[in-house]
Amino acid sequence: MSDFDHLKIPMKDLDPAKVIGCGRFGRVYKGELSLPEGQVTVAFKQLDRRLGQGNIEFWKEIMMLSKYKHENLISLMHFCIDGDKMILVYEYASHGSLDRYLSDASTLTWIQRLRICIGAARGLHDPMGTQQRVLHRDIKSANILLDEKWMVKVSDFGLSKIGPANQAYTYLVSNVVGTPGYCDPLYWELGFLSRV
Ligand code: ATP
Repeated sequence: MSDFDHLKIPMKDLDPAKVIGCGRFGRVYKGELSLPEGQVTVAFKQLDRRLGQGNIEFWKEIMMLSKYKHENLISLMHFCIDGDKMILVYEYASHGSLDRYLSDASTLTWIQRLRICIGAARGLHDPMGTQQRVLHRDIKSANILLDEKWMVKVSDFGLSKIGPANQAYTYLVSNVVGTPGYCDPLYWELGFLSRV
């Protein structure tokens, strides 16, 4: 964990402006982060242990987003730990999550929707030519964030795993995680993930 010390900041550098969401990790805030070069708008999540997630998901998110950087993956900027308070600080995606726009046919054109699909796939398959792929395990429209240019930023890596990219046969057998209704029914039943 000391590998990530350079990302650690004091909690006092964060100034929450408003709550913009709430997931299984806890509340999500829009706020300002004070940096030597000035204030930046960020989104940050404060761990609420009552909702089920904890240290494992916190460190998994830091590990994954430090290792995999891509224009279609959300950037983790910093984290804070102060006693039992744990916070993850991200770049702010000003259009929020895709789920907000899907029920209104007039907001996103079909071309934009296709670009969003391609962006999400690009971010997860072989990021940075690492020859690895991210098995996200919780892909859903609430985890597809959109920046001011409607560019995809996939988020929420607390449940993810890594697998080798560009191989004909790969599989993962694990306990089932994710969000009911979004998972492949066979994976939900058997805990078996394969490439095809
Ligand atoms: P779950 O935790 O169950 O998977 P979720 O994905 O909705 O649910 P969060 O990832 O905590 O939970 O996010 C909640 C909401 O906060 C998102 O749907 C999105 O609207 C907003 N949000 C999260 N991260 C950011 C960000 N970096 N920029 C802008 N909005 C964000």
